[in-house]
Amino acid sequence: MIMSGYSNSFFHKPQSHHLASRHVAVIGAGAAGLVAARELRREGHKVIVFERGDQLGGTWVYNPNVESDPIGVHPNRTLVHSSMYESLRTNLPREAMGFRDYPFVAKKGDEERDPRRFPVHREVLMYLKDFAGEFGISEIVRLETEVVLVDAAAGGKWKVKSRSKGGGDVEDEIYDAVVVCSGHHTEPRLPQIQGINTWKGKQIHSHNYRTPAPFQNQVVVLIGSATSAIDISREIARIAKEVHIASRSLPDETNEKQPGYDNLWLHSMIKGVHEDGSLVFRDGSFVVADIILYCTGYKYHFPFLKTNDIVTVDDNCVGPLYKHIFPPALAPSLSFVGLPWMIAPFPMFEFQSKWIAGILSNRIALPSQEEMMEDVKAFHSSLETLGIRKHYTHNVFGYKFGYDEWLAAQCGCPGFEEWRKQMYIAALENLPKQPETYRDELEDHHLVLQAHQDFTNYTVNGVGVVDK
Ligand code: FAD
Repeated sequence: MIMSGYSNSFFHKPQSHHLASRHVAVIGAGAAGLVAARELRREGHKVIVFERGDQLGGTWVYNPNVESDPIGVHPNRTLVHSSMYESLRTNLPREAMGFRDYPFVAKKGDEERDPRRFPVHREVLMYLKDFAGEFGISEIVRLETEVVLVDAAAGGKWKVKSRSKGGGDVEDEIYDAVVVCSGHHTEPRLPQIQGINTWKGKQIHSHNYRTPAPFQNQVVVLIGSATSAIDISREIARIAKEVHIASRSLPDETNEKQPGYDNLWLHSMIKGVHEDGSLVFRDGSFVVADIILYCTGYKYHFPFLKTNDIVTVDDNCVGPLYKHIFPPALAPSLSFVGLPWMIAPFPMFEFQSKWIAGILSNRIALPSQEEMMEDVKAFHSSLETLGIRKHYTHNVFGYKFGYDEWLAAQCGCPGFEEWRKQMYIAALENLPKQPETYRDELEDHHLVLQAHQDFTNYTVNGVGVVDK
């Protein structure tokens, strides 16, 4: 099964009692980069975080602007990092979403804050800023500084070339290690559609969706079925003429009007499109549409990374990577935080970062390069045996808690709390069943009580962070 290699048997005993302090570059100051920086510093490393944006928070920094190319394929388009839309509320309850030892609790008495369990994007940004402030991370973030090149240097070190805003100075520095935390929700992934080059209508990727206004009175075909597709289709349906959701995960004969709407339909995937504006679904039915809105996900993209093709991205599989983190031939000096998806992201970033930090200091040992490569091969062949396509390599849904718990065990820290697992699963299950109300009608008060009980265990710098 995919769990191949998630046992302890590979792991060597720690190599040394002398903890090494490394000079580490972290690329990106989103949730992953912030917690990576904290864990690295806790372990005694010297850390600099590079962030090309003008504030920390990554994808949670809402930007009302969109890119110059609405489907995001033009290489010279103006780039906007965040894919947040104005109305976005989290798809996980805050208790399950937050870092394990810095609970994401509601802050009372501040009108700027959103106390709901599934808050708006701004609240997540404020939580991340609180986190960075609490652990002194803000001071080590170089804002408006883009890493343009990461290249091997002598002695197993890395050259990091960065450029400050306005095309200013390019700086070359040498680091012992680089931790890539640059996110993977910026580079749109588009499906191949027969006839699309002759189709005259508008096309936009959800990366460039902010508000429903441009869809007023339009006939829209929205492709996708993940959380954003569910949210956006309903938001648009309030003002569009018609919204047709096309999903490749539905049977060919699907053609259903959605309950509670008289202008929202669910279909199978599109078979092809035509010059006259029509789009034909797999069941042979068709609509004439004004706009195609792609909610079809994103691609991994590391334009700054030069590894002599040791690390490649092939059909959205970054590899070869041991446990989605270390390229065996470049471990442990190069690592990635945040690649796996279909998992509670923030706590996973925390476990991955603890592991990386412990390995860099020699407190935790990695297997040999050969053993790691064997594990990677075994992992890929288990995916193949199960018929899992390459672009799902980093979808860890089938073993999500196993992955986190394996990492936690390597670090010698507690794994996922039982209440967190149950809350996460309940949120995922409720979403398709109650797409309009799942955020506000949860029946999990017993889990919330358990979460808050656990939160009392966590204090930061001696100060309780729980708002009881
Ligand atoms: P990012 O937040 O993308 O941060 C990466 C950072 O790297 C950015 O600040 C970027 O500017 C910087 N960067 C990139 N390249 C460079 C470079 N060359 N030099 C310098 N800096 C660079 N997760 C949840 O837990 N709950 C949710 O409800 C949820 N909803 C989501 C909704 C949407 C629409 C999207 C897109 C994602 C959602 N997620 C959600 C997932 C979310 O992406 C993760 O939770 C997490 O915030 C990702 O953090 P990150 O640090 O990996 O990446």
